[in-house]
Amino acid sequence: MALLPILCYPDPRLHKVAKPVTVFDERLQQRVADMFETMYDAKGIGLAATQVDFHERLIVIDVSEDRDQPLVLINPEITWASEEHHVGDEGCLSVPGIYDGVERSAAVRVKAQDAQGQSREISAEGLLAVCIQHEMDHLLGKVFVEYLSPLKRNRIKTKMLKLQREAR
Ligand code: ZN
Repeated sequence: MALLPILCYPDPRLHKVAKPVTVFDERLQQRVADMFETMYDAKGIGLAATQVDFHERLIVIDVSEDRDQPLVLINPEITWASEEHHVGDEGCLSVPGIYDGVERSAAVRVKAQDAQGQSREISAEGLLAVCIQHEMDHLLGKVFVEYLSPLKRNRIKTKMLKLQREAR
């Protein structure tokens, strides 16, 4: 197991589009284990492969209070999304310290494979639905701040660059 470095916005690698996972081997199982370790260590509820500079369609999620309900979604596809939308505050491990409202479908159904390549469909609402949509955006190279106004986004970009300079 290993902690993976998380890319920070506005790193251009966060805008790469992930390719489908085609090989379900030991390397992939290791990647999944490392992503869970990294996500739990950072106290996040979801992590997309894109955020750890691995550009395949893989996300790990755990929205449970006790951090004991790991969910792996490989090659996820939304098969249904509710017409009802909600606006909720979101944060992101790649944009530390920033939280802002994003409008998302209140419920979704998603078809995905697990780490062994088994396909299944799950229904999600509430926080899990939000998290799935947020992480799936990462696989398309989209960070949640792109839903915000250009003014807010620029302010966040400046703040992040300043933090990164100070951390060096
Ligand atoms: Zn994120």
